[in-house]
Amino acid sequence: MKKVAIVGAGIVGATAAYYLSKESDMEVTVFDHGHGQATKAAAGIISPWFSKRRNKAWYKMARLGADFYVDLLADIERSGQEVNFYQRSGVFLLKKDESKLEELYKLALQRRVESPLIGELTILDQDAVSELFPGLQGFERLLYASGGARVDGQLLVTRLLEASQVKVINKEVSLRPLASGYQIDNQIFDKVILSTGAWLGYLLEPLGYEVDVRPQKGQLRDYEVDLDMASYPVVMPEGEWDLIPFPAGRLSLGATHENDMGFDLTVDENLLQQMAEKASPFYPSLKDAMISGERVGIRAYTSDFSPFFGQVPNLSGVYAASGLGSSGLTTGPIIGYHLAQMLQGRSGVLDPVDYPIAKYVQRKEI
Ligand SMILES: Cc1cc2nc3c(=O)[nH]c(=O)nc-3n(C[C@H](O)[C@H](O)[C@H](O)COP(=O)(O)OP(=O)(O)OC[C@H]3O[C@@H](n4cnc5c(N)ncnc54)[C@H](O)[C@@H]3O)c2cc1C
Repeated sequence: MKKVAIVGAGIVGATAAYYLSKESDMEVTVFDHGHGQATKAAAGIISPWFSKRRNKAWYKMARLGADFYVDLLADIERSGQEVNFYQRSGVFLLKKDESKLEELYKLALQRRVESPLIGELTILDQDAVSELFPGLQGFERLLYASGGARVDGQLLVTRLLEASQVKVINKEVSLRPLASGYQIDNQIFDKVILSTGAWLGYLLEPLGYEVDVRPQKGQLRDYEVDLDMASYPVVMPEGEWDLIPFPAGRLSLGATHENDMGFDLTVDENLLQQMAEKASPFYPSLKDAMISGERVGIRAYTSDFSPFFGQVPNLSGVYAASGLGSSGLTTGPIIGYHLAQMLQGRSGVLDPVDYPIAKYVQRKEI
């Protein structure tokens, strides 16, 4: 029996734990301190197909990550869990310059050839939008894609950990290499996954590594509304804010992108209010909605905004991923799955060479 430790139970670690727990020769223990976890702060949008980012490796990961949800949902359902954390409710894309909608539509049509999950694509006028999302205004036309989805990050992690039935220890831990294996929290493990998001440096820097991962604070506000918005599409305008409707009268407004705030987890009412003021002209009912809470999480970014995963250089049997940025709910599950595969000497559809950990995690010259 191989003893495996997973440090970090966000979307990456929980997915890795789920797939490793299916292996009969692995005993998996998960450690998580939980403070500032990005996954549980995120009310996520899965809709990577409209991105203009030129990074081809990132786009491949993001589109395959969106597709991977289909397998993940089927697997979790077979494990006897509800899959109520994911709904393909469609997405509305707004442009300040609406003449750019045709261009976006053409790009999406091309991308649909390899990503049929995009679903139906249509440019809708205000009247047609009102049927799908009563009360939304402030535009003449927008682009609708029926395959866009929303994910409740916290619920997804809960389902994955419940389905995997692994031991979860809620504490902050460090990693100590031994002559054979690794010590974490007074236990010895054969193999380790570091899925610690923005905190990767805290584990590897004491071991002599330089880690190119910086924290970015993200805040989101939740509202209670007198409506079941289960079938309402997600609204993605250009700029900082998105509206993410959920079933049972929940609506989330997100999310800020705050650099240079370190690991600060305080709620900034001013910034949330500014975001609400920008969103209100498009959805005036927001002004009457009851605020039910705020969430703050810390995203992880590399200096070139690329995610990475793989074996930590010179630490045999230790695998890590980070840098998922603002698309980690889209790419997290496929990365977690690949880490679980790599740990067993297997490969997947993503080639780790395209997401090289050695570029972001380097042993310091002594
Ligand atoms: C407000 C907000 C909105 C977002 N919206 C979207 C979206 O719409 N679409 C999208 O695709 N993505 C979105 N994201 C991004 C996405 O949530 C993240 O990229 C993703 O969740 C990162 O997952 P992770 O598993 O790498 O890290 P995390 O979820 O941050 O998990 C890392 C875990 O490691 C634990 N940890 C770290 N160090 C230690 C240690 N030493 N000991 C024990 N535990 C440790 C932490 O406590 C944490 O729980 C959003 C993020 C935020 C904050």
